[in-house]
Amino acid sequence: MRVLGIETTCDETAAAVVDSPREGEATILSNEVLSQIAEHAPYGGVVPEIAARAHVEVLDRIVARALKTAGVKLADLDGIAAAAGPGLIGGVIVGLTTAKALALVAGKPFIAVNHLEAHALSARLTDKVQFPYLLLLASGGHTQLLAVRGVGDYVRLGTTMDDAIGEAFDKTAKLLGLPYPGGPQVEKEAERGDPERFALPRPLSGRPIPDFSLSGLKTAVRLEAERIAPLTATDVADLCASFQAAVVDVVVDRTRAGLRVFREQCGKPNALVVAGGVAANQSIRRALQRLAGEAGLRLVAPPLALCTDNGAMIAWAGAERLRLGLVDGLETAPRARWPLAELAG
Ligand code: ATP
Ligand code: MG
Ligand code: FE
Repeated sequence: MRVLGIETTCDETAAAVVDSPREGEATILSNEVLSQIAEHAPYGGVVPEIAARAHVEVLDRIVARALKTAGVKLADLDGIAAAAGPGLIGGVIVGLTTAKALALVAGKPFIAVNHLEAHALSARLTDKVQFPYLLLLASGGHTQLLAVRGVGDYVRLGTTMDDAIGEAFDKTAKLLGLPYPGGPQVEKEAERGDPERFALPRPLSGRPIPDFSLSGLKTAVRLEAERIAPLTATDVADLCASFQAAVVDVVVDRTRAGLRVFREQCGKPNALVVAGGVAANQSIRRALQRLAGEAGLRLVAPPLALCTDNGAMIAWAGAERLRLGLVDGLETAPRARWPLAELAG
């Protein structure tokens, strides 16, 4: 089963072809990603209108390249999938409309994929992990602990009350004068910084409900930065290291609470899975590895290129849905907001 997947919900224009010969099996035939980082960098964040226009300009080329690299023609596909949300609505419209048009002309089934579901299922693209599993979904716009019980069957155990973890990384980077996107920059600075120099808070630690709160942590970094300004390169590195150490502690504590709630509500998970752009962070991966070991679980973390936004995860989620007969009509509307709990499985 070969599915084309298109991703345009944020600042990556991406298209990929995934082949899934059997349930739970997949080969990535192509995975083309064009990041718009350079276009947004001068503004310190993603500008929705610029993103939408950039998607329009390059998407047809990216799709053509994905098909060419995969060595398939539209006629060889079994389905065409696109992220229909949640995300920046202008960009979502571009990808969704393109996928619908291709499905119409090629006479192929169309699958409207929830971008968060694609992150949630991305672990199964490169690992045979079975349902149910505990998922930490940590990206630029979302931070949630979910019980993934099946395709389309997600129970949200906890979520952030304010900023997403990726957002906290991005805002912290910005206030320290580091370029966008902040996550990888903060991680790099943290490598040579002192994680114990600044005593930063670990919000919600010890609470039984596995929710997150990140905005206080970011504010604490700002107050420390203002207190010691002007900042030297060492100060920036130390602030990044202290911030990242606090995030790691928070992630471990909150995920541990998530595991407890999962066991109460759904029994033993088959694995601890992490997904979303923040899953690219090596300190967070290592800490989750230790936590999983303690809990007698396997940690499944997708390869870095499948953690941040990509077309392969959309194609794969499309294939998982197509296999279950979950196809969508061409009248499907783009959605800026689309909680996972509203998905029909
Ligand atoms: P969403 O999936 O919620 O719609 P998004 O698609 O923008 O949001 P992703 O592309 O999944 O999010 O992830 C991007 C986020 O991941 C950014 O906030 C970025 O800073 C963060 N990120 C990427 N790499 C790292 C890293 N190495 N360490 C920490 N954060 C990172
Ligand atoms: Mg992105
Ligand atoms: Fe994403």
